[in-house]
Parts: sequence; structure tokens; C-alpha cells
Amino acid sequence: MKVLSNEEKNVILVEIQKTLEIWGQYEGPQQGFDILVRKSFNILGPMLNVGKVDIHLKTVGNAIVHEGLDMISTLYESGSEYEETPMCYDFSVPDRGSFSLHIHMLKGAASDDFISEQIDFLGKMIYSYGGRVRTMLMLGKAITCDIMTGLPNKDSVMRFVGRNIQLGRIGLYNAYFINVRNFKYINKISDHMSGDDTMVQYAQKLAAIADDDEIVGRLGGDNFVAIIKRSETVAFLEGIKGIEVDVRTKSGNRTISLSAIAGGYEIPDDIHNPGEIMNPISIANQMAKQVLHRDVVFYNDSLARTIIDGQRVLVNFAPSLENGEFVAYFQPKISLETGKVCGAEALARWKHEGELIPPAQFIPPLEGDGSICKLDFEILRQTCEIIESWVKNGREPMTVSVNLSRWHLEDPFTADKIIDMVRKYKFDPKYLEFEITETIDYKEYAALTKLITRLRDYGFTTSVDDFGTGYSSLTMLKDFELDVLKLDRAFIAKIGESDEVSRDEILITTVISLARKLNMKVLAEGVETAAQLDFLKSVGCDMVQGFYFSTPISRDDFEKKYIYV
Ligand code: C2E
Ligand code: MG
Ligand code: MG
Repeated sequence: MKVLSNEEKNVILVEIQKTLEIWGQYEGPQQGFDILVRKSFNILGPMLNVGKVDIHLKTVGNAIVHEGLDMISTLYESGSEYEETPMCYDFSVPDRGSFSLHIHMLKGAASDDFISEQIDFLGKMIYSYGGRVRTMLMLGKAITCDIMTGLPNKDSVMRFVGRNIQLGRIGLYNAYFINVRNFKYINKISDHMSGDDTMVQYAQKLAAIADDDEIVGRLGGDNFVAIIKRSETVAFLEGIKGIEVDVRTKSGNRTISLSAIAGGYEIPDDIHNPGEIMNPISIANQMAKQVLHRDVVFYNDSLARTIIDGQRVLVNFAPSLENGEFVAYFQPKISLETGKVCGAEALARWKHEGELIPPAQFIPPLEGDGSICKLDFEILRQTCEIIESWVKNGREPMTVSVNLSRWHLEDPFTADKIIDMVRKYKFDPKYLEFEITETIDYKEYAALTKLITRLRDYGFTTSVDDFGTGYSSLTMLKDFELDVLKLDRAFIAKIGESDEVSRDEILITTVISLARKLNMKVLAEGVETAAQLDFLKSVGCDMVQGFYFSTPISRDDFEKKYIYV
């Protein structure tokens, strides 16, 4: 083989120098760098006796750029025979993959020291510049992408919105805050890594619903944001109803369909700042999840007011409770047998800044985060105090009921806490009644069984509130021994409106006879007219409660009217 002259060596060195200058300045994507290397080898290859240059790319796991990529691409090929064994320059990262450069010399040419030194040098430079380009690419991705799923991150989505504001096209889009339902459950049944895998699958399928001129990004956790053309609303909302993912569980693989809760916002033409979309969509999502219990809710101003009012209630709740601003009002219950007041229901009122606020304004937000339990205990405390005062003052007490929120079922110690509190007061527990609403949730059902049993065993009276509005009315009667059935106002509302026997009347009659057989008393709620009262008397209803007799009134008024008369 021919030995190179110094002149020839110098020509090669100058060419390498030029090449390195070009590579060193390169700041674009990896593909562009590959093209530069290709071009350079077209010149340098013949000078350096190179037969072939391959680049091997292999990515595994959560690689940011491409996942599961395994490819060899040839950057240069001379067409002549080359050595089987290449000179290799490896760059690998555990769990991410590897990048390596394989340089095959022309057959029999590798022995020249000068040439092998230059090849070695070039290999290292490609490795080093290529690595830098790749790193920059990955950094770029990391800045704009969510690392785990590869979806755009919030910043990218905001840039997308910003671009469309500039183009005057933003008014064509809806924004959505999407929250996956029950993702916690997926994490529970699968091991942690598989939970991540499932999230990646979900994210990619969700993103695939969007067109090229739309965007879906991940905010973190199981929350996503999507900017979708208004014309695609129906298809998009249909698409997110059920996204199938494979989950690896301990007992094998399962396919699960995940649904989502979406808070939507019709982006107006005249927004100036991309960030303006975030508040409306998160309000709508919160509303869908916690208040309206619907899959999709679109933002509107009155919705926002409800949420903000709710937040105000939550902020003021603890200090107001401390201040004694929550007081029990009492609505009398009338026995239809004697025509006399035979009991009362304690109903919460909030005396705040000179106003008397009804439960409709504060119970829903308190139900949202479970604070309602504290209120229930406060009303219970006031009720115990009043019943005890009647006993102390030598009056025959009457049974007073308090409402128990379903949130109490979350706490296995509810019955103990109630008993602990009531024990301090001196009266027969039968004078205290607990109103419980129906439930369909199986888990709650078990807790409810336990709670009712404990309360009854202690000697309290128990009732089912708003009977007939839940989904499990008959199951409640089948499984629980309760003292009183409180028929919901909805059944009574239309009675007396026409002369014909209505379905409501048939239902009431049937429920009363059923209750009688089960040894329960029936109380009809919301009685407002004489016609309703007459009907209820005629079918043997035991008690009534309603505006026809009295609205809920303060303790003072109640005692003046019905206790100390
Ligand atoms: P509820 O337990 O079914 O209470 C009966 C509601 O019906 C009361 O509303 C009462 O004022 C109203 N009402 C009674 N008679 C009539 C009538 O003839 N016509 C009409 N239109 N309404 C009538 P209120 O006091 O506004 O309470 C509403 C709901 O708030 C209660 O329904 C109960 O679910 C809840 N609530 C009130 N206080 C508490 C409490 O301390 N704890 C819990 N967990 N919930 C409470
Ligand atoms: Mg009630
Ligand atoms: Mg009720």
C-alpha cells in the first residue's frame, strides 16, 4: 500500500480542519448533522481509505426523542471492499439507549498510522459533536415536552395558543382541562412502572385524537390540556369517553377503558394572553368533578360565581364555626294521629354579616371537601344541649332529628364520636334521631350498615331522609332496620292539583303500607297545602313536616311556641 507524502498529509489535515469548523458550528437537529457527516465523508473518505461509515442508534424505555428505535444508517459507502471489523465509537446511557459510530476501513488499508490516527480523531469528533447536537435536541424536547409521555408540556400549549392569537384564529378553538377518571385505581392494581406505562399509552392515544392544527399537552399527574377546533367538539368529547389501555396487573394483562372529566371553554376571539384560558377550564373541570358530577362542563360566568362563592364559604367556614355563626333552626313535625307537634328537625343556618344564609348556599361547598362533618357535629351539639335543657326544665322532650352527611361514612369512628359526644348529656337517646340519605355506592353501603346498627344499638332513633330520590330505596328498606321513612317532598308536591288519582298518590299509598309491614313510621316532607294534608291523613301517613304548619324557626321561637307554652 502506498505511503502518503507530507504534502498529501497536509492536504488531508486542511480538509479535516475545514470539516471540523463546519461541524463545530452546527447547532441544528441531529438529521442535519448526519447530512454534514455524510457530505464530509464524501470528500474525506477516499483520502483516508475509508470503506464505509455506519451510525447505530438504539433507544429503549422512556427515550425522549424516539422510543424503541433500533436503526443503522450508512453515512458513507465507497463501493469498494472494506474490513469486516469496524473501529467503533460508543456512546450509551443506561435505560435510554446507545449511539455508536462504526468506521470500516478499505480492505488492507487500516495499517497506515497517520490515517488510523485521523480516523480515530474524526470518530471522536463525530461522537462529541453528534452527542452535543443530540443533547441539545433532547434539552429542546425537555423544555417543550413532558418527559414521561413525550406530549407537549403546558408551555408548548401556551405557545400554540399564543401563535393562534397572533394569527387571529384563536376564536375557532375550545380549550379543555381533562382529568382521567380513577387513574388511582390503575396505580393500585398495577405495579408502579406499569402505572407509568399506562399513563404513556393513555397520553399518546389522547393526543392521537387531535388533528395537526390542534394540540394536547400534559399538565402533570393525570391532568391534560387540549386545544381543539370548535367544529370537532362532538368527535373530541366522544373520543375521550373511553380510551383503552393495557394494564399489567399481578394476575396478568388487562385492557381497561379509561374515561375522563372535561372542563371546556369556548375561547373568545379577543383574548390577549394565552394564560387566560387556564382559569376557566380549571373552574369548569372542578365544577364537573365536585359539584355537577358530570363528564363535561363548559365554563360560563355564573358557574364561576358559584365556584367563587363556594370558595368564599370554605375560607370563612372555620372562623365562622368558631364564632358560633352556625345555628340550628327547628322545623316542627306534626303527628297526624293527635294533630300535635311530636318532634322537630334541626336545620343549619348561617348568621353571617347580618344575613341569615340558608343551607343551599353553604352545604354544597362544605359537601365538596368534607367540612360538612364539622358542621353536623356542631348542629348535633346544639341539639343535645336543647334536648337536655328541656329535661332539666321538667318538660317532656320531643324527638329532634339531625342530618348526617354521607361523608361520615368515610370515617370508621363516626359512631364512636357521636356516642362520645352525646354521652355527656343527660337524656334518653331515643329523643335524638339521625337522618341518613340513601346510597348506591357499595363500599358506602357496608359502612352505612355498620353506622346504622351502632346508632340503633345505642338507642338512638334513625330515619331515611328524602326517601324515593335515591337509587336504592327498596334496598334500603330490605337491608336496614330504620324507625322512620321520610318521604321526599317531590312525591307530595303535585297532590291536589287534579281530581284524578295520580301515580304519586298510588306510590305514597303503597310506600305507607310497605312501611307499616316493616314496622316503620312514615313522615311526609314538604307539606304546603290542606289538600296534601287531607290526602296524607286519608292514607294513614303518621307524621308531616312542612310550610303548611311552620318553616324552620329559631330555638327561641320554637321553644316559645311548642315547649314553654
Ligand atoms: P332536608 O334534610 O330534606 O330538610 C328539609 C328541607 O326542606 C329544609 O330545607 C326545609 O326548610 C325544607 N322544607 C320543609 N318544609 C318545606 C315545605 O313545605 N316546602 C318547601 N319548599 N320546603 C320545605 P333547608 O333548611 O333549606 O335545608 C335543605 C337541606 O340542607 C336539608 O334537606 C338537608 O339535606 C341539608 N341540611 C340542612 N341542615 C343540615 C345539617 O346540619 N347537616 C347536613 N348534613 N345537612 C343539612
Ligand atoms: Mg333532613
Ligand atoms: Mg329531606
